[in-house]
Amino acid sequence: MIFASRNKHKVEQVQRLLVGMELVPLDEVAPQLEMDEPFDTFEANALAKARTVAEATGEVAIADDSGLEVDALGGAPGVISARYAGDGAGDSDNNAKLVAALEDVDASERTARYRCVAVLVAPDGKEFVAEGTCEGRITLEGRGDLGFGYDPHFIPVLPERIETRTMGEIPLDEKLAFSHRGRAFRALAAKLKRDAFTLDPGDGTA
Ligand code: IMP
Repeated sequence: MIFASRNKHKVEQVQRLLVGMELVPLDEVAPQLEMDEPFDTFEANALAKARTVAEATGEVAIADDSGLEVDALGGAPGVISARYAGDGAGDSDNNAKLVAALEDVDASERTARYRCVAVLVAPDGKEFVAEGTCEGRITLEGRGDLGFGYDPHFIPVLPERIETRTMGEIPLDEKLAFSHRGRAFRALAAKLKRDAFTLDPGDGTA
């Protein structure tokens, strides 16, 4: 399967999540391929990326589209998380804009979530879609370099324990158990297994 992303952090995370499946890096099969994200939903953007790769290569493609939704900002930056501070913006520009936007917002109001939509598109047109979210709160002081994007400012809010570390301070293996991407790809894998069973249970009843 080809993972339709050039984000090395996402590639590492998704490869760890899809145990036993070999992900082929996009640059190995289609180095020139452009993948646009012109839509206003994560699902439409993820499907657009995977369809582009499946059509261009004739292989099964998976993709994700993800971002940060901050309640006090009406859900921004949302689908434009990667380019919140403008086209070509880097993580530090985006984080600086986030901090400036929330400077006057009380800590108790700085609730947010990461959202990820994971998709698989087969060359025959079959499509699977799954979503995962991770609730959290935004801290103005960035901490930790174990992640990417908004991770230094995002503290997950978990039902089972009180977490004080930012996503940038939580090691990847631990983070994947509750992150939006971990949840989305586990849900996608479950759908794939369920559908394969429905199509052909292998007991002669299909
Ligand atoms: P895209 O899915 O490639 O459009 O980009 C998603 C953007 O959302 C990233 O560039 C980050 O800014 C942000 N984002 C998505 N997932 C994560 C994550 O797991 N950690 C930190 N930032 C994330």
